Amino acid sequence: MKTIQIKDKTFAVSLPEAEILKQVKRVAAEINRDLAGEEPIFLAVLNGSFIFAADLLREVTLPCEISFVKLASYEGVSSTGTIKEVIGLNCDITGRPVVIVEDIVDSGLTMVHMIETLKGHNPKSIDVCSLLVKPGNLKVNLDIKYTCLEIPNDFIVGYGLDYDGYGRNTRDIYTVVEE
Ligand code: 5GP
Ligand code: MG
Repeated sequence: MKTIQIKDKTFAVSLPEAEILKQVKRVAAEINRDLAGEEPIFLAVLNGSFIFAADLLREVTLPCEISFVKLASYEGVSSTGTIKEVIGLNCDITGRPVVIVEDIVDSGLTMVHMIETLKGHNPKSIDVCSLLVKPGNLKVNLDIKYTCLEIPNDFIVGYGLDYDGYGRNTRDIYTVVEE
């Protein structure tokens, strides 16, 4: 089994690059079909989605724009826990179809909050496109229109996702090995 060590944890390959890229191409084809005739804006959520966004967008054949946003966490009083502010949204999404490009949906709270924020800018539509989804952890009612791969609740790294800042630069996706 191919393993890597990042800091105190061992990770084993769980999704090989070939499988990831196959699913990325499938989802891009769905987007090309569903948004035919539209000029969408893709909003990729940094840092985790940078590799996914690069691979996905090169399979998208629609006339489109891509912009990168960050979700800055700050302590706030909220029923849903940590509040995250969308920063870096410097394009006008009014009246445009928006596709959020996210690395992974876990509880779903991040996406729900981002969608609420974007609605304030009156886009034509908002769809979520996530590389990974942990259906077993979803805590909110969230419509994820495009999912490349569903995974169990274990912690993963690679292909853009990190463990404490490291591990983003691997081609495959790895799952933590419990010892
Ligand atoms: P949510 O708000 O859906 O609970 O959180 C989603 C965010 O949590 C993701 O964008 C990602 O930053 C982080 N996250 C959730 N699960 C994992 C995981 O298994 N590995 C890594 N690296 N990040 C994760
Ligand atoms: Mg993310």
